[in-house]
Amino acid sequence: MNAAQRIKSAIRDVPDFPKPGILFKDITPILSDPALFRAAIDLFAERHRNSGVQKFAAIEARGFFFASALCDRLGVGMIPIRKKGKLPYKTFDHAYDLEYGSAAVSVHQDAFRPGEKVVLIDDLLATGGTAAAATRLIEQAGGTVIEIDFLVELAFLNGRAKLTGYPVFAPVVF
Ligand code: AMP
Repeated sequence: MNAAQRIKSAIRDVPDFPKPGILFKDITPILSDPALFRAAIDLFAERHRNSGVQKFAAIEARGFFFASALCDRLGVGMIPIRKKGKLPYKTFDHAYDLEYGSAAVSVHQDAFRPGEKVVLIDDLLATGGTAAAATRLIEQAGGTVIEIDFLVELAFLNGRAKLTGYPVFAPVVF
């Protein structure tokens, strides 16, 4: 099996979490296995060693796991995109719908230098609402989104339709 296949087979399905009818893809078995976690970071690191990325923007909370290791590996800064109300300084905010409910995300207004090349990263692409909201925030704060990366894509939810115009990379697809 290649790395993406090994990662895929380690993901645990949790039915009816956090609401009835949602099949939750639990990535914690990847975090707890050092070889698998490194393999996941390798997939992103190989992609961005020469991509020109200047900041990784990571979506709370599971995006932080992957982005922080990746940023350390590549020597690139990380910007947290958090649920509204969590960031301490001045923020831009964007409300959106997600697969199970609605929410708002925020970024610090001074997160990016004008035109800075940003890769957005999260663990999983479902409906795409969260990532679409995050791209708005990055652009509002002056960044240029050069790619959106997920470890996992739930292709049947067609989240890419909300992200048209942006390259999307997701090595594990259900
Ligand atoms: P969405 O905005 O619908 O693309 O939802 C993406 C966010 O919700 C990501 O941060 C995921 O971690 C989480 N998420 C949504 N659906 C699932 C699912 N079925 N399994 C695991 N995480 C999910």
